[in-house]
Amino acid sequence: MLIDNTLSCAAASGKNWDAVIVGAGPAGALAAHQLAKQGFEVLLVDRKRFPRPKVCGGCVNDRSLSLLKEAGLGDMIAREDAIPLSQMEIHSRRQNVALPLPGGIAISRTRFDELLLERAQQRGVSFLSGVTAQLDDLSDAGTERLVNLQKPDQKSFPVRAQLVILADGLANSALKKYPEAKSRSVVASRVGLGGTITHSGEDYRAGCIYMAVSDKGYVGLTRFAGGWLNIASALDARALKDAESTSALIREIIAGAKLPSIKGLDEVEWSGTIPLTRSPQRMAMPRVLLCGDAAGYVEPFTGEGIASALQGGYLAADFVGAHLAHWNESAEQQWTRLYRARIQNRYRYCRWITRISRSPRAVEWALSTVRRFPAITRPVIRHLNEPLDIAPLPG
Ligand SMILES: Cc1cc2nc3c(=O)[nH]c(=O)nc-3n(C[C@H](O)[C@H](O)[C@H](O)COP(=O)(O)OP(=O)(O)OC[C@H]3O[C@@H](n4cnc5c(N)ncnc54)[C@H](O)[C@@H]3O)c2cc1C
Repeated sequence: MLIDNTLSCAAASGKNWDAVIVGAGPAGALAAHQLAKQGFEVLLVDRKRFPRPKVCGGCVNDRSLSLLKEAGLGDMIAREDAIPLSQMEIHSRRQNVALPLPGGIAISRTRFDELLLERAQQRGVSFLSGVTAQLDDLSDAGTERLVNLQKPDQKSFPVRAQLVILADGLANSALKKYPEAKSRSVVASRVGLGGTITHSGEDYRAGCIYMAVSDKGYVGLTRFAGGWLNIASALDARALKDAESTSALIREIIAGAKLPSIKGLDEVEWSGTIPLTRSPQRMAMPRVLLCGDAAGYVEPFTGEGIASALQGGYLAADFVGAHLAHWNESAEQQWTRLYRARIQNRYRYCRWITRISRSPRAVEWALSTVRRFPAITRPVIRHLNEPLDIAPLPG
């Protein structure tokens, strides 16, 4: 069932908001929840109607779960919505390794984002979906920033806020008019493709993340509640162009890694993303902060995206709470430094692993080393799952 809007565009346009948040994914919805908890008037806007599908492996690691708990959302995910994760298997042409996972769950992103959004609404966040937000002017904002909300019938409404948080995902589409401010894709970045299958046989067991790695990209397979098999992949754009179809390329990667073939692959309705690995040009502008994928992203091999998005949203809400009353340019510079130190620096393992995954020889060497010395993966797995740094902000 669709989640209702809590107000109309005209009503949103008639108010002065403390914060307008663009994008109701994990970064935007958690930022909204946390700001409303502090008593701020928050408008959360998304161009899609919710619940909406999202290309993602749906693996929510322990870091994410501990952060949800910290935000008072530890009970958000019911047992029947998620499958506990205990293992990850990585398969290449010649090697395969099985790594224990310390925790985490697999859950469809449609459901995860819906649950988070419902909790934000219960906290008093005003929600408006089916409208595209755009920043039409990035010059010095004075005491407020205008956001233009456009409905599908092209009618547009300006809304004003003391601060805007852009959590609009990889494409940074709210900055369409400012290409120089948008995040840029890194050369030869892979693209994301995902889909689900209802009846896919018994070969892939629940609780395990299967990764098939090849020089043309990698494919992650996970069971969701209800037995759905989720397929999420990062594929080489050229290999995808040369392939007969997306299903054919995914089948080739899975067969090359000697994993069982998947029944019904040709019927999957694939959704895609723009190039995945992106570096941000700016993390703040006058009365605008960026967080989540909008503030840069590295390929999803280590499954850190949701945790980073949640941490970005959490941190943004804390930061805005501490600075909004006396906002100035130095707050924007401070946000950039804080975001780099607390979030972007954590991508280092992800960057390494992404580099290794691009060379078939390096993949075979890495997997055979892990097979012989499995303990070397422990610090990486610990790092990816350890609770996030939510220490109080510097004054
Ligand atoms: C193939 C693949 C597999 C992945 N697997 C995992 C995994 O297993 N675990 C994990 O932790 N991470 C994974 N990730 C990463 C994860 O999906 C992202 O990092 C995460 O969704 C980022 O959240 P976000 O809130 O920043 O953005 P998003 O979830 O992308 O949300 C952005 C929202 O903004 C809205 N929006 C965009 N533009 C506008 C606009 N102009 N106006 C209004 N609304 C707008 C969109 O509709 C969207 O709802 C994967 C990613 C890919 C591509």
